[in-house]
Amino acid sequence: MTRLGIFPVSYKVRGKKIVIVGGGVEALAKARLAVKTDAHVLVVARKIEVDFSALTATDAHIEILQEAFAMHHLDNAALVFVGDEGPDAEIAKRLTKEAGLPLNVVDQPALCDFFTPAIVDRAPISIAISSEGEAPVLARLVRAKIEALLPLHLGVLAGLAGGLRHLVEQLISSGDRRRKFYQELLASSQVEDALANGQQDKANQLANQLLVEHANVVQSVGAQRQGFVHLVGAGPGAEDLLTLRAQRVLQSADVIVHDQLVPEAVVQMGRRDAERVPVGKAKGRHSFTQKRINKLIVELAQTGKQVVRLKAGDPMIFGRAAEEIEAMDEAGVEYAIVPGITAAAAAASDAHLPVTLRNVASGVVYATAHGANDTTVTHWATLAKSGLTLGIYMGKSIMQDVAKELVAEGLSPTTPLGIVVNAGRTNSTRYLSSLAEISNEVPQLADGPAIVFVGEAVASGKWQIQMDQPVLDQNSTGGALPEIQVA
Ligand code: SAH
Repeated sequence: MTRLGIFPVSYKVRGKKIVIVGGGVEALAKARLAVKTDAHVLVVARKIEVDFSALTATDAHIEILQEAFAMHHLDNAALVFVGDEGPDAEIAKRLTKEAGLPLNVVDQPALCDFFTPAIVDRAPISIAISSEGEAPVLARLVRAKIEALLPLHLGVLAGLAGGLRHLVEQLISSGDRRRKFYQELLASSQVEDALANGQQDKANQLANQLLVEHANVVQSVGAQRQGFVHLVGAGPGAEDLLTLRAQRVLQSADVIVHDQLVPEAVVQMGRRDAERVPVGKAKGRHSFTQKRINKLIVELAQTGKQVVRLKAGDPMIFGRAAEEIEAMDEAGVEYAIVPGITAAAAAASDAHLPVTLRNVASGVVYATAHGANDTTVTHWATLAKSGLTLGIYMGKSIMQDVAKELVAEGLSPTTPLGIVVNAGRTNSTRYLSSLAEISNEVPQLADGPAIVFVGEAVASGKWQIQMDQPVLDQNSTGGALPEIQVA
């Protein structure tokens, strides 16, 4: 078993000095770390070689001295960094050791009493990542991951919780119940949303409300807590195409109500003990009517649950969000909407297709091929005349009809048509054809949802399979086009 050669501690520097000996880049790097604290930062060197002005301009608590190092520089010091070489560095090392102060010598682990970790700063919360000086690059990578996970205002949230401590102790007598209150406060996406939007007052108000709800008096008369619904865009299917906000609200959800199109891996990103309700609306199979879904999310919120209504792509694009919003408005249920990457956006990226293209396409239209309740749509004439790139949803099974309509309405039969199946996923597959070719014969496509692009800009994309050029020996595939896996 590998044991740690260091013991991580949080070292107090408030009211003390952090001394940095040196005037070069190493010293500057340490100074950048040191000014994150509210210690007085003292940089001493005979020659200041790099520009510290970015730090001195914003921070009054850093002092740069261009002079020889001397014993008195160590007065009231908490930590000492030596970033230079030369006689002053030698003196500084010796005096620091003699004074019994913790010393860090840049790039000389053997001489260090302590290492500087990579720091995630959400004061008063801090996270230090250390590799014992062995793999600083890896430590920084880990830090980047953690940075991305934590909301920027985590510190404010911690401050808010801290500020309520006395009140909580007065109002909630049981330790268990107090813990429950804090857990809920820290996981509350409404409070986080408020902080993210700079609404400190609203955050305070929500926290107080939560406290009152948790307080003994109210609990004993059994008051009902308010729930909340987030309509969340899950993106096209890859876990890492989820937004950070979507990930955060998923993790604070009690119940996740999700569509068929949202892959299991994304649904699994919620808390392990969250309830999951699939309301599968796969093509041609409506296991839950929209009405029932509306009713379900309203009822869940009314029983005090934090609900995530998880939809493929973006919730506001062909997501029947309007009905759910109307139901929630009618019932007075509070909700917020978290956008997602819509399928056509992911498809355009997969196909390296700029859907707007100077001098070729001055815009893009997202349109459906199917009308509501499978009626036909009436927009083809308008779209054919638009000159814009068309990103067509729900058109996979009726592509031929769409192509014929567009040609009948005046689009040239040679207009390029591109199909992206499983956009944004590892098995994304892309086909290039034209309105005329598709009208003749519909190719065999990979399984999965598809976006059909139509327009002159489509030709500028990168497509794997061109319909008019057989890509493989027909005999070896039995005539079927292969499903190409794209890493
Ligand atoms: N709200 C979703 C769209 C839902 S409608 C969004 O913003 O993406 C369902 C249609 O979306 C499917 O018929 C298909 O045309 C398209 N679609 C959804 N996910 C897709 C994906 N990963 N690749 C290609 N098309 C997709």
